[in-house]
Amino acid sequence: MKNFPLLAACFALLVSACAVPTRNGAQGELPTVTANLPAHSADLGRPSVLDEDDVETGATSSKLIPANAQKKIPQRMVRVLIVENSKSAYIKHTGRINIYTQDLSKKYKVSRRGTLAVKTHKNGQVQVGSLVSATPIIIEPVDGTQLEIDKVTYTGKFYALPGKNTFNLVEFTPLENYLYGVLPYEMHPTWALEALKAQAVAARTYTLKSIEKKADEPFDLYADVRSQMYKGSAHVQDSVKKAVDQTRGQVLAYKGELFYTYYHGNCGGGTDHVSIWNQKAPHIKPLGGNSCKFDAHSKSFNFKQDIPKSSAEKFARSQGLKGSLKSIKVAKKTGTGRASYLTLKTSGGSKTVLCASFRAATGIRSCKLTKISVGTTKVHLEGHGYGHGIGMCQDGAHGMAKQKYTYKQILKHYYPGSTLSQFR
Ligand SMILES: [Zn+2]
Repeated sequence: MKNFPLLAACFALLVSACAVPTRNGAQGELPTVTANLPAHSADLGRPSVLDEDDVETGATSSKLIPANAQKKIPQRMVRVLIVENSKSAYIKHTGRINIYTQDLSKKYKVSRRGTLAVKTHKNGQVQVGSLVSATPIIIEPVDGTQLEIDKVTYTGKFYALPGKNTFNLVEFTPLENYLYGVLPYEMHPTWALEALKAQAVAARTYTLKSIEKKADEPFDLYADVRSQMYKGSAHVQDSVKKAVDQTRGQVLAYKGELFYTYYHGNCGGGTDHVSIWNQKAPHIKPLGGNSCKFDAHSKSFNFKQDIPKSSAEKFARSQGLKGSLKSIKVAKKTGTGRASYLTLKTSGGSKTVLCASFRAATGIRSCKLTKISVGTTKVHLEGHGYGHGIGMCQDGAHGMAKQKYTYKQILKHYYPGSTLSQFR
């Protein structure tokens, strides 16, 4: 494969945005940050304990939470949509469970392992085992019972939420447990601990921001790429547990507020401003892009890909372009070389579109494109990176961790201007 030079040159970025963190850059004490979270997110949780590591010695800030005060703060709860618009599902339970309606007017318990059927019932009701209700039914594991749905094992309790002709199953689980089930699917658990810790902070911040935004919805997050990948927290790997536990409660803030800490696989030598991918997102400095010279070790740094010409033409039609596809050209690119706009030309005309929209529709690996050729049945693409290129570059985080940068330095680099904070 052709050996592309690193795209670490800072030619088009602000000088300050190109700064590489120093290895000994101490961060001092952690300020605290709060959010306007719905009531559900704080109840029923276990008290959390601030790790020794989090209380920086010599800190004088009154904003720091004393360890004894933190013990009184219940852990935030997360609502994750596990089964969506279904008519039938089965929940295996390893031991005792309680099943009840929210007002406790109907309840029963099962004392031994078994399988519980969940199905839709007439008149918009849901049936769990023998209990039928038009309001949510709660399935609560007791004494360490685990619940298994579609071969994934969960530790939280479930809400069966009745819809018109279907139901949803939503897991209600403590935030830190949820992160145990996110981390290994968003970053390889064998990667350096500091990279995993950076990922834990990014995922925690993203989660809390979602809770803040979804206060009026029946759940906070999907269990797939629409939010973050999540496959239950029953089986936790040591490295994942360490990364989550050693950063417990830590989040990123900008001007005292949480923000969506977007991340992606590989930026191909530089991250970009969030506006090229999501124009509705706030244009804040931590999502403004930065150089990256830590990701070229990854096989994702260079790519060659063919996509069916038909999928590009389908997208072109959705943009009002008729006829067969003739060419795709980069119309505008960012300073890091990522296409922000593409011009699609068909036998019926041409149109300039956001590359991010084209990527979402066709599944191209990245908009950092160096070659595009339209063939008879396929479109051939070459370029750098994997993902949207906004926020933290995960391969870059791994590269930095291997070079002995700390998770705090990794986060500072990929979310410039952000502040590592203790959430309360
Ligand atoms: Zn990168």
